Amino acid sequence: MKVLFLSSEVHPFSKTGGLADVSGALPAALAALGHDVKVVTPRYADVRDPRLAPTGHALRLRFPFGEVGGPLLSVRLSERHEVLFLDCPALYGRPGLYGDAQGEFPDNERRFAYLCAGALQAAQRLGFAPDIVHLNDWQTGLAALALKTGFRKGVLAQARTVFTVHNLAYQGYFPKRVMEELGLPWELFRSEDGVEFYDQVNLLKAGLVFSDLLTTVSPTYAQEIQTPEQGYGLDGLLRGRAQELHGIVNGIDVQEWDPRKDPHLPARFGPGDLSGKAACKRELLRRFGLPESGAERPLFATITRLAHQKGVDLLLSVLPELLSTGLRFVALGSGEPHYEAALRELAEAYPRQVGVHLGFDVGLSHLVEAGADFFLMPSRYEPCGLNQMYSQAYGTVPIVRATGGLADTVEGGPEGTGIRFGPFEPAALRAAVQEALALWAEPARLQRFRERGMARDFSWAASARQYEALYQRLAGAAQGG
Ligand code: ADP
Repeated sequence: MKVLFLSSEVHPFSKTGGLADVSGALPAALAALGHDVKVVTPRYADVRDPRLAPTGHALRLRFPFGEVGGPLLSVRLSERHEVLFLDCPALYGRPGLYGDAQGEFPDNERRFAYLCAGALQAAQRLGFAPDIVHLNDWQTGLAALALKTGFRKGVLAQARTVFTVHNLAYQGYFPKRVMEELGLPWELFRSEDGVEFYDQVNLLKAGLVFSDLLTTVSPTYAQEIQTPEQGYGLDGLLRGRAQELHGIVNGIDVQEWDPRKDPHLPARFGPGDLSGKAACKRELLRRFGLPESGAERPLFATITRLAHQKGVDLLLSVLPELLSTGLRFVALGSGEPHYEAALRELAEAYPRQVGVHLGFDVGLSHLVEAGADFFLMPSRYEPCGLNQMYSQAYGTVPIVRATGGLADTVEGGPEGTGIRFGPFEPAALRAAVQEALALWAEPARLQRFRERGMARDFSWAASARQYEALYQRLAGAAQGG
């Protein structure tokens, strides 16, 4: 099958979170199954990959706000896997993906309307007739709307749409004047089956309403988003489409996240021989300015967007007390300034036990996964989450709140691969860390936890097959009329 895959971030070209990892790895896994996949994404100012090559095509689109366009660039990653970049300096030629220190970019509706319409025009220019247009998150919602309301012609005549929700909380709201700015028909500004949401335009909703099939990134999250507590106002819509909503857990890129050959590590290790992990721990402590001695003390870590979702506040509420046990903690993260300040203060108060690195550093994130003993993910909610899987692959025991994809990918209990806790409360997190300390005191038992984690198969192959089955069902339905 032919798949046109739209995403606002694609590893290794651009990344703010898990969407990038998925958009890098899932298309590769689909290509390995024999499908032709073209990924379309913006060429942000920071995308400077030397492999970028012209396709010889240029795009031009006329919106009511003006005409935009530019060259279509490409990086071919394998015979069946190509990433297409929309080059348009007026919209993308600035640092940042969605915003800067001043906040969200004020023209994001234009930037992502161009991604959507540009991707469809790119397919036309290249003569690429997709069976499936796979959309991801709010930035791509308008493509579903466009395909349902007129763009479904030429090479797109057979195209059916799959829309994947990576995080329901980010919906892409805009004032209703963007209907005119983008040239959207006012009749679509309706609540029941249109883009209207509390008198605003909601681009995620456009994707949910106008796509043929919906997916999200874990089975548990697929259930959770149908409840008022986690539905962010869209649970009714999602319950109405429950038959067309599928939860498929993300995989991880096992080429990139393999401690046996990870170039970011000072020493390699793997199942059966974890000895290199000690050197990674020493290097990690050194990089975070902590004493390298005291290997007998456990090292806890987190890598996270510093956002409400991630439970950073819960972590901060229990850490001071837990530090009295002598444990050490390192955090790699960036995000909301008040969390950054609180972490910095914690590191200043406990200079020999707490190390904090504020910023986004992919290489360092590999070292953190490799060098830590335990990995903390106390999320309020978590659509899928990736670091708990990276942790297991790296022999690091994850401590997770049992929600969303964390519940689906970390096994608890005495024969588990990690430690799970339920209520979003300090006492529950504290008890989970105490459990980890008890495990630390029994090296043989800890070793078995690590080995079970490392033995798990988190590769994309199984999940890619589930997407393939959905694509086939949709394409079959299209052919059957
Ligand atoms: P989300 O997409 O909600 O942020 P995920 O767990 O799905 O959460 O994916 C987050 C991805 O971003 C992981 O690959 C994680 O390692 C990475 N990441 C998050 N923060 C940082 C950071 N400060 N530096 C490097 N990588 C980070």
